[in-house]
Amino acid sequence: MTDSSFDATNPPSRELLNDCVHCGFCLPTCPTYQLWGEEMDSPRGRIYLMDLAERGEIELEGAFTEHIDACLGCMACVTSCPSGVQYDRLLEATRPQVERNVPRARSDRWFRNGIFALFPYRRRLRAAAVGGALYQKSRLPALAARVLPPRLRAAQALMPQVRLRSAFASLPRRVRAEGEPRRRVALLSGCVQDVFFHEVNTATQRVLAAEGCEVLTPRDQGCCGALGLHAGREPHARERAKHTIATFEKLPVDNIVVNVAGCGSSMKEYGHLLADDPEWTDRAEAFSAKVRDITELLAELEPRAERHRIDAKVAYHDACHLGHAQGIREQPRSVLRTIPGVDLVDLPDAEICCGSAGIYNMVNPEPAEELGERKARNVQAVSPELLVTANPGCLLQLRRYLDDVPMLHPVQLLDASIRGRRPTEDP
Ligand code: SF4
Ligand code: SF4
Repeated sequence: MTDSSFDATNPPSRELLNDCVHCGFCLPTCPTYQLWGEEMDSPRGRIYLMDLAERGEIELEGAFTEHIDACLGCMACVTSCPSGVQYDRLLEATRPQVERNVPRARSDRWFRNGIFALFPYRRRLRAAAVGGALYQKSRLPALAARVLPPRLRAAQALMPQVRLRSAFASLPRRVRAEGEPRRRVALLSGCVQDVFFHEVNTATQRVLAAEGCEVLTPRDQGCCGALGLHAGREPHARERAKHTIATFEKLPVDNIVVNVAGCGSSMKEYGHLLADDPEWTDRAEAFSAKVRDITELLAELEPRAERHRIDAKVAYHDACHLGHAQGIREQPRSVLRTIPGVDLVDLPDAEICCGSAGIYNMVNPEPAEELGERKARNVQAVSPELLVTANPGCLLQLRRYLDDVPMLHPVQLLDASIRGRRPTEDP
């Protein structure tokens, strides 16, 4: 028997690989298969490649890595597979193998290392925000857009509008519940979310308090490791997961609330991520059991705060890490339907990724651009007055292609309704 091409550290399991019966039901929902019609860029093809590598019949370097790198990790295939194939587990096992065993070209390595040296660190992001604000005020962006290579051009185009006051603001550590307390929760304020989408965190605190939840927001938290986990940077993801668990498990709370789809899906996976570490497995599972997306938690609570009318046609975009990865589709919709006047509409091809996918739109800018443009056309097809989605990555990706539709996190729309304010992208 030939040796496997994977190393011995958690390779994709033979049992999970054997679950695929090659029926092809997943193909129409796979964005990369839709783009290129190439079998090896479909879920079935990628599972076949993993199978070959597990048998030692293909090396990891070369075509194998190219097709795995091209996967968005959107998990639409997990939703559509009638045989229950756990492609999420297979990909989570495969990406670290690539990161450990396949040398990347120098420019690729530097670019990826640069992303991971910046994004998970709030202080560095704040320093970058100062530079970003000056840069955005200068004439450089227009000039750079013409001369930068595709990846840097994409990074520039995705850069959020920097608001320094928000970037440096800190959240109150404790917000009391209004009225009779119903739950005590802790909030993950995040890294990118806290610096560039601070107003989503403040809206989350206000809505939770208005709905009878006391909110604790510990200062010593940081990145939850989601970006690293989805990119196969396992040591980084494990270290961030342990820090996050150690920070939150000290708090006497019923739930840990998160308002970023990608972070929530990772935090619910900590038990699996740390399954081989006896000191952490039980702690990780206890932590994950308490994690709730903000819309998931609000849907569990009978609405208490008065909602004011917002007459608007609102399109809801399902973030892949909320819909496909966590199965949370109905809760955000039911929460938004509690707002009188909101006419909630779904998007055509709602199950197809917008191309954001963590760092995907920076490292694979061309397919991300095609997917972003498709999603923009699908948004325009329903002519909404507002677009809401629960992931900052999706917001940045869609803002690039839709500058005429205001975009909010669902909790911001609910916050505006509870406060009787006009919904606006500004805090
Ligand atoms: S992953 Fe599921 S849907 Fe896709 S080919 Fe395999 S069994 Fe069929
Ligand atoms: S995760 Fe998304 S891009 Fe990757 S194989 Fe599945 S459907 Fe295709």
